[in-house]
Amino acid sequence: MTETEMFNAWWVGEDDTHIRPTSTAELGEGDTLVRVEFSGINYKDGLALSRRPGVLRTLPLIPGIDLVGMVRSSTQERWSVGERVLINGAGLGETHNGGLAQFARVNGDDLVRVPETLSNFRAAAIGTAGFTAMLSVLALEDRGITASSGPVLVTGASGGVGSIAVALLAGLGYEVVASTGRIAEQGNFLRHLGASALLDRAELSEPGKPLQKQSYAAVVDSVGSHTLVNALARLDYGGVATSCGLAQGIDLPGTVMPFILRGVSLTGINSVYAPSALRERAWQRLARDLDIGLLDSLTSSIALDEAGTAAEQILAGKLRGRTVVDVDA
Ligand code: NDP
Repeated sequence: MTETEMFNAWWVGEDDTHIRPTSTAELGEGDTLVRVEFSGINYKDGLALSRRPGVLRTLPLIPGIDLVGMVRSSTQERWSVGERVLINGAGLGETHNGGLAQFARVNGDDLVRVPETLSNFRAAAIGTAGFTAMLSVLALEDRGITASSGPVLVTGASGGVGSIAVALLAGLGYEVVASTGRIAEQGNFLRHLGASALLDRAELSEPGKPLQKQSYAAVVDSVGSHTLVNALARLDYGGVATSCGLAQGIDLPGTVMPFILRGVSLTGINSVYAPSALRERAWQRLARDLDIGLLDSLTSSIALDEAGTAAEQILAGKLRGRTVVDVDA
């Protein structure tokens, strides 16, 4: 790609956030130019578009931690023009220009081929949230948790990570308990995704006893704070919890009792710096294990200029499941 092209992109600057016509010459470093088709709204995108701290490491920057599109040009032999590719994290929309735009220039090492059986739209519907849900499931499997181990608690269940975790685990035969603050509004949706029981998140969100009734073989947590501490206190002997998020808070106000008296483990999940072999493994499993009908039922689609509104909604806990951004709409 030698010619310069003009396209639309969101920009977060020192003083405001806006969409403006942008030139490919402004995209920065990278050996591969991608024509983006879809991005998405993750919690981090909500923070970035709202100019909250913690995501953007430099300004001005095009936000968007996800992209799915086609290779327009690459100096890497591994990538041919027209190949369908995706990126989740890897600094996209944090340290370098991201996916909420019609073009992105990236490091080809960060790209993953879109699995053949998934459309680009569905790959974006999965996005970082679904990738992280799969990393959480793999972490449980790698630590010996199986469908016969016992029920698995999923917190933040109506959100992006949570809803895909519910669908994945239920599809794999696990008994899933979905914790949500929106039982009245989203209870039927969560049961449709495969949850066999619902738990009001208020039961987990306040300080609790260091050890509680053993109830779950595992926990997939995207909430943190008291919720994760109470979930740890309810794990069975030898149970496993994964921690990826902080929707309630970054604190972990607990005790060592579940670790030393019940031998439970807590394992961290980081999607941003996942090595490429793990990315490939997770995406192959997503293509194999995630029910496409359920994925479609938890996905909404918006136009590029609606991303700002969706950002406010995700921070207010009002989005359900996954929101894809069609950057051409
Ligand atoms: P969403 O906003 O889609 O989901 C978060 C869910 O958490 C909400 O839908 C809500 O579920 C619940 N929630 C919100 N506020 C609170 C609260 N105060 N107390 C308890 N529960 C709450 O976000 P994502 O799914 O995109 O991300 C979830 C978290 O995971 C975020 O913190 C995000 O930064 C993190 N994350 C981390 C990654 C990593 O690599 N470590 C990758 C992806 C995400 P409900 O209404 O059902 O209660």
